[in-house]
Amino acid sequence: MTKFVFVTGGVVSSLGKGIASASLAAILESRGLKVTLIKLDPYLNVDPGTMSPFQHGEVFVTDDGAETDLDLGHYERFIETRMKKTNNFTTGQIYKSVLEKERHGDYLGKTVQVIPHVTNEIQDFIKRGAGFDTPQAVDVAIVEIGGTVGDIESLPFLEAVRQLSLRLGPNQAAFVHLTYVPWIAAAGELKTKPTQHTVQKLREIGIQPDALLCRADRMIPDDEREKISLFTNVAQWGVISMPDVDTIYKVPRVLHEQGLDGLICDKLRLNTPPANLKRWDDLVYETAHPQGAVNIVMVGKYVDLSDSYKSLNEALRHAGMKNHVRVKIDYIDSETISPDNVAQLARFDAVLVPGGFGVRGVEGKICAARFAREQKIPYLGICLGMQVATIEFARHVAGLKDANSTEFDPATPHPVIALITEWKDADGSIKTRSEDSDLGGTMRLGAQSSDVVPGTLAHQIYGNVVTERHRHRYEANVNYLDALRQAGLVISAKTQREHLTEIVELPQTVHPWFVGVQFHPEFKSTPWAGHPLFNAFVRAALQRHTSTTPEKALA
Ligand code: GLN
Repeated sequence: MTKFVFVTGGVVSSLGKGIASASLAAILESRGLKVTLIKLDPYLNVDPGTMSPFQHGEVFVTDDGAETDLDLGHYERFIETRMKKTNNFTTGQIYKSVLEKERHGDYLGKTVQVIPHVTNEIQDFIKRGAGFDTPQAVDVAIVEIGGTVGDIESLPFLEAVRQLSLRLGPNQAAFVHLTYVPWIAAAGELKTKPTQHTVQKLREIGIQPDALLCRADRMIPDDEREKISLFTNVAQWGVISMPDVDTIYKVPRVLHEQGLDGLICDKLRLNTPPANLKRWDDLVYETAHPQGAVNIVMVGKYVDLSDSYKSLNEALRHAGMKNHVRVKIDYIDSETISPDNVAQLARFDAVLVPGGFGVRGVEGKICAARFAREQKIPYLGICLGMQVATIEFARHVAGLKDANSTEFDPATPHPVIALITEWKDADGSIKTRSEDSDLGGTMRLGAQSSDVVPGTLAHQIYGNVVTERHRHRYEANVNYLDALRQAGLVISAKTQREHLTEIVELPQTVHPWFVGVQFHPEFKSTPWAGHPLFNAFVRAALQRHTSTTPEKALA
């Protein structure tokens, strides 16, 4: 029987609820339990796929092709269980499903209401995410409820989990509430009032938390913990500090030392071996003791919000740990890059052009790809980064003047990148741009496998087969592959089913490390294994670093 831990948040957002939930899951997993995490988002978008990365940060993609909240990325980086479509749902999805049932007549003429119809639907979705009552059921599902207690939007979610806990019976569910305890410098005091209020709000709806995670810039002293305990009706050992830490890998240890997992296992009557956090301690040690550093520049569009490239940043960091170096990432807005100033990239050890949508800043990315190719600087192009590398190569090496993607220039004479519907015709002729520009549902999403060509750099990295996740619409146009190949571009992997171009590279005889991939490898990187492609990229950056600045290499 699956047990549940519901994680709510109070006072303010951005307290690290995702990391706290993932950390608790990681500790429980180390106690031998099968664990999963589910994220509930209280907004009306059906999924975050169409939301701006500036507003919402990265869209994380699962193997089964769901476009999800970036917290699912944390989840996959913290625990072994892989996330699926069912691990994240929004208010929009709940309402969509309820309304479809209503249209279908499933409610048999009843008045359809938030309670019980919406709240029941939420409970069904939660159970589905946990594999409840199926052979895939987990021991513990940790359910993170987005938003802050007191928001109108998250009320149905809170009501639903309260009901679910009641229906499951005693000791089947626990409640953890993340709160904020500000330090008021002028008074020289930690203030517990916001915590008292947020817990009051929670108890008003009938939820009594079993544990409070108190975010603060320091540990909460015992007398303040006692005060919080008295006011919130949470046992004192359940009032747990979550101080600022310099690396997220410390959080599982911090929570475990204060007994959070013990408390949860007690409440849920789970009898398990003790936690073993050695792998986390090793990570903390590794981050604190790099033997060198590399400086990578990311030339992208969403550089102002670091959450937009969350998984990418993490993947580079993981690869740094694998190579025992610290990876310093500089961000440059591609819109500011032009042939006049592109030489500024020469001071970096490697160039990365990440994924993106829309024409803005694209010429800057093409310029960066050209500079990296000509100056033999290690280059990794991801999704759009692969497409711009292909466009650049077509223009400046293969002699295809004004080559472009139809995403940026529908009238380009050489659509080397285009929608499949634009290039795949029965007689092989190149069709022109179709007028359909539906923003939902036309993407290549999720995991697909491709065969890798032996003898290539990609083959050294991946072996015979690569399986990675996708999120894009445009593809390398098959009609141009011969011309590009003849000019020296290596197509090193194609999808098994439709033979779409997955990896392009330059031969190592002409460039030390130049790779473009149509997929998003960053989604599969973990702190334990890193990721073969990023590991190799950082190694190439390190090689350039050592050869250009030998005295700095082991600084
Ligand atoms: N805009 C490009 C496409 O849709 C690339 C997308 C991406 O980088 N994720 O194909």
